[in-house]
Amino acid sequence: MRYNFKEFERDFPNDDACLEFVFWNRWPDGGKCECGKVNSFYKVTGRRCYACSFCGFQLHPTAGTIFHKSETSLKSWFFAIFLMAQSRNGVAAKELQRQLGITYKTAHRMGHKIRALMARKGDMLTGVVEADETYVGGKATGKRGRGALNKTPVIGIVERRGAVVAQVMDRVTTAAAIKLIRQNVAPGTTVHTDEFPIYNYVPKLGFKHAVVNHGSKEYVRGRVHTNTIDGFWSQVKRSLDGTHHCVSRKYLGRYVDEFSFRYSHRFSAAPMFSLILDKAGEQLSEAS
Ligand SMILES: [Zn+2]
Repeated sequence: MRYNFKEFERDFPNDDACLEFVFWNRWPDGGKCECGKVNSFYKVTGRRCYACSFCGFQLHPTAGTIFHKSETSLKSWFFAIFLMAQSRNGVAAKELQRQLGITYKTAHRMGHKIRALMARKGDMLTGVVEADETYVGGKATGKRGRGALNKTPVIGIVERRGAVVAQVMDRVTTAAAIKLIRQNVAPGTTVHTDEFPIYNYVPKLGFKHAVVNHGSKEYVRGRVHTNTIDGFWSQVKRSLDGTHHCVSRKYLGRYVDEFSFRYSHRFSAAPMFSLILDKAGEQLSEAS
């Protein structure tokens, strides 16, 4: 479902409207004051805060969120989120810079803060899942695993018709594969992989393991295949090439989080804009 620019302008015409959204997202009951009064807060003119109309106690809706201490206006933040939500392949920092009339440095930082919100904290994958790794960047079409020089390995697990979890790895190891699968897949689930040895432990971890032998040119055997995760990798690479061109290893994880979030919510009834905005209103557990 799409949320268009006309709706955006209607819902968020100015900074106050954006702040009001953050306020209600954080305190859906209208806020409770120290003095015991409920839903008695009003917006303080010219400041990002609300005050109790009985005792003057102040609430700061953006405290602890990505908007906190930012000199960029809330409206600009919301518009950046809107642009990122509208796009299928993500928005380059240069594009944010141009659309928002801000510096490249600010645009770059905003983009990554918004991406950080999209890092997945979802349910365990279940049903039929596929696991596979891919190698991003670098020039040479290196061999798999240690042979993939200059490339950054990314491992992913997808639930067919469901969500995806993907993570940048330092090195392709059995331990890394085991950790990701254990943390994100419900026990007893069938995990489809190819014959690469890092997945050999899958059956010993309480999962069913279905293996397709890519080495002998076997790509599908009945329902056994890794085509779903392959499709996700193609999307990731297309988006990286088309939108961001050259992504450093340092930021690759952020982009992977963003693409995973988009993919995982592709069937969601709520517009992508609301999904990201809801996360933006949440307090961050760590300073970032
Ligand atoms: Zn009060």
